[in-house]
Amino acid sequence: MDFLVNKDIQNKNGIEYCRKSTESEDRQAFSLDDQHDVNLKVAERYGVKVKKTLQESMSAKKRGRPQFNEMVAGVESGKHEVIVCWALNRLARNSVDGAMLIELMDNKKLHAIITPGKVYYNSGDDKLLLQIEFGLAKKYSDDLGPTVMRGMHSKLKRGWYPGPAKPGYLNRKEKGEIIQVIDDERFPLLRKGIEMFLEGARVEHILDVLNNKWGYRTVTTEKTGNKPLSISSFYRILNDSFYYGKIVWNGEESELDLSVPRLMNEKEYWDIQKILGAKGISRPSIHKDIPYRSILKCSECGSSIITYPKTKRLANGDTVIYLYAKCSNKNHCSQKHISVEKLEKQLKDTLKTVKVSKDFHDWFLRWLKHDHQVETTDTEVMLQRIDAQIEIQFKRRNNLVEMRLNSELSDENEYKTKRAEIEAEIKRLEKERAGVKYASDDWIKKAEKRISYALYATDKLEHGDFAEKTSVLADLGSNFLINNGLLLADVEPMLQLFQKHHEIVNKDLVGFELEDRLLNQANSEILKSWLGLADEFGSPAWLENIEYPSLVLQEADVLLSVFA
Ligand SMILES: [Zn+2]
Repeated sequence: MDFLVNKDIQNKNGIEYCRKSTESEDRQAFSLDDQHDVNLKVAERYGVKVKKTLQESMSAKKRGRPQFNEMVAGVESGKHEVIVCWALNRLARNSVDGAMLIELMDNKKLHAIITPGKVYYNSGDDKLLLQIEFGLAKKYSDDLGPTVMRGMHSKLKRGWYPGPAKPGYLNRKEKGEIIQVIDDERFPLLRKGIEMFLEGARVEHILDVLNNKWGYRTVTTEKTGNKPLSISSFYRILNDSFYYGKIVWNGEESELDLSVPRLMNEKEYWDIQKILGAKGISRPSIHKDIPYRSILKCSECGSSIITYPKTKRLANGDTVIYLYAKCSNKNHCSQKHISVEKLEKQLKDTLKTVKVSKDFHDWFLRWLKHDHQVETTDTEVMLQRIDAQIEIQFKRRNNLVEMRLNSELSDENEYKTKRAEIEAEIKRLEKERAGVKYASDDWIKKAEKRISYALYATDKLEHGDFAEKTSVLADLGSNFLINNGLLLADVEPMLQLFQKHHEIVNKDLVGFELEDRLLNQANSEILKSWLGLADEFGSPAWLENIEYPSLVLQEADVLLSVFA
């Protein structure tokens, strides 16, 4: 949320910037004259006075465009306060130029960037958008509209790379989705190249063998292709975590679908980084096990918060690993790092406020089902059985930990074996549980997920592995920010309700008598619509834009206060 947005740009002094290069990336851009025409109309719409027009015929990939620099100087000096352009990708295609404009906003020199589709104000949300759209040199993202970006985001989450195929792979359409498959012709050659590199061969030598001996040629497209592999392409392959299955796209990470063969494994990737001596890239000691990745954002600059391990050597020679979180923006952000422990402490405190009792949890589920007129089926019985078994495993695990703390169990190996056994059993049960399909409607599932979250999240945070911890944070709500070490989030609406009725939902309701009373009084439609709708408003702005979820929430509120 941003409270400092000055949306009044009327009568501000504007500067117009038009750019079109002869490169293929700009094929679809309007001509300079057309851009100019559109810009004037848009400026008029917002009442901005365009005092200067700059036109440039240059690519924006490299830095050092004279007109661009003039524009920046003009804003810096206070002469111009608003930039008008046909599209953001006219302004910048490299992260440095983009960051420069964002910095001008941070310094309150630049009030807004106006494009025909959207005005970007000096607000956290808009700056985050700018950051994405300036795209850290990813030209594919800045040409695309928000819908396409969303599509790409979900594609990424499904395990597919949302961009052009990388060397060694081909994009193929399957059941309406573009997926990656290996390029039978080039993949084996590149694999040989990787092996040679790992054996110590020089890159020049590898390329010579690849291109001249084995005849490697790039994929032919309409415009280009059929060329030998370039040295920069080969270095890019060596540096790209995609090749061991970790997709990084637009600041987000995802795992490449497991069906796709990797050009190298993760160990090889890190060995290569070591050989390359890349600065700052050394394999984190617990690389896979870093929690809370890709969830948190910096409230100051909108960049992703990264978590990383740090090893400290103690006086007695032992080493301890501490986890830290910090803003990934190294140059334009004053936020300091924070220990993950402190972060978790805050998370735990929040979880306490949404926690419900087991009795309430059970009752709530019964109520949901009654409300939905779901018959007591075999599946329901099965679920209860599984829940009970999970509960038993949780208890076993707690006991085990206690025994160890009390030194009743001193054999480390025995402890580890038993613990692993229990974890495996919990995993199996949870899998079984997930596999049991019992409610056809989504809303029941969502509500059930929330209530089970409210009951189990604390336990998961304390005992879960890093993946589970991460999901505990992710499922709490949306819009996660770190602000001077403080964790901020929009708590999911249903959990908010539990927060509000903390006293009630947290009681042990043994011999609970209100059930019938409530069932009679409840206007089930309200609850149903509330639960069904609550999740559709995951986007940060829904509370402001749409009134009726708050109405529904209020009514559900009344329902719950029947307990009071
Ligand atoms: Zn930051």
